[in-house]
Amino acid sequence: MEKRFVYADNAATTQVSEEVLNAMMPYFRTEYGNASSIYAMGRSAQKAVEEARAKVAKAIGADPSEIFFTSCGSESDNWALRGVCEKLAPKGKKHIVTTVFEHHAILHTCKALEKMGYEVTYVPVSDKGIVAPEDIKNAIREDTAIVSVMYANNEIGTIQPISEIAAVCKEKNVIFHTDAVQAVGHVEIDVHKQGIDLLSLSGHKIHAQKGIGAIYMRKGIVLPNLINGGAQERNRRAGTENVPAIVGLGRAIELATADIAEKAEIITARRNRIIDGILRLPHTRLNGDREKRLPGNVNISIEGVEGESLLLMLDMNGICASSGSACTSGSLDPSHVLLSLGLKHEVAHGSLRLSIDENTSDEDVDYILEVVPKVVERLRLMSPLWEKILKEDANKNN
Ligand code: PLP
Repeated sequence: MEKRFVYADNAATTQVSEEVLNAMMPYFRTEYGNASSIYAMGRSAQKAVEEARAKVAKAIGADPSEIFFTSCGSESDNWALRGVCEKLAPKGKKHIVTTVFEHHAILHTCKALEKMGYEVTYVPVSDKGIVAPEDIKNAIREDTAIVSVMYANNEIGTIQPISEIAAVCKEKNVIFHTDAVQAVGHVEIDVHKQGIDLLSLSGHKIHAQKGIGAIYMRKGIVLPNLINGGAQERNRRAGTENVPAIVGLGRAIELATADIAEKAEIITARRNRIIDGILRLPHTRLNGDREKRLPGNVNISIEGVEGESLLLMLDMNGICASSGSACTSGSLDPSHVLLSLGLKHEVAHGSLRLSIDENTSDEDVDYILEVVPKVVERLRLMSPLWEKILKEDANKNN
């Protein structure tokens, strides 16, 4: 097969779509007014921001007044955790419940809060990468201020029982936040029906640009500001509105949620073909639950290969993929997510994440399935670790 370019790293970031770019363009050059200005061009920008807010709200079943734009998913996560802690600390609530396999936007914020005197319980996950609502319930204490559990994991794509966890939090009267950066636009979400109090989302995972996010705050929850300054976002989040990015996020979320079920079905079928194809190789294992996972996520450990070498060789063949999360690749530590499933260090090191989307064609899948086995075979031939595995297999069979 001829060499082709296959972008299979959509969990790291996505390409800005043409529709999104077209929606943004007027706000760079013609409608560039400050959304706080009272003349017509300012009002036009303000109207565009409010239209985008309505689209974001509709996509997740919220009211527009419950949506605040931020600079990214990480900011939304920080605002949720730091805001709730600051608000409830005077009432003696200085405990956070989260899980061991959250994104670093949550984990590192928790570490920072621990240094400030807060206590954090990190709930473990099952070997399939699923959080048990019962474990969350048992971790909640009298002094718990907030529970934060991600909607879908960024590395292994597992989807969590969010409604059940929200119900547990409601029963215990604790605020529930979910980091839904990987889930929005990929699975159906209804914050009101599901009982979610706070939700973080980000534009660049759904074909909007990098550096735009939003937070949903259930009506009645008023958190201290994270960013202080001007009166933007109804005095809750200062900073001149990034109008083109906000408009782009609105269009992107509208497009991503329009045909979510049909899209998911097609992407899931292609994903399953990739999973089945790679699992035919000996000494491979799928990481994360097979059913409760994002449509586009493939995460497979391939013994006897090094993740970094695999990525470089795939890149030489035109395939963009990831090993561990985008934020941790470049570090030699195995991914905390894979370790949380109970994987051994050397197995976690040889993991491959492919995250496909609606732009990944059947031909792209064919190409992945042709290239990956060849590359794995080459790397294994050079690997002392693979030699050891083969010897162990031979001993077992004798
Ligand atoms: N949360 C999760 C689950 C993510 O996957 C990411 C990005 O990879 C983030 C938060 C951070 O989002 P952003 O890059 O918009 O700050």
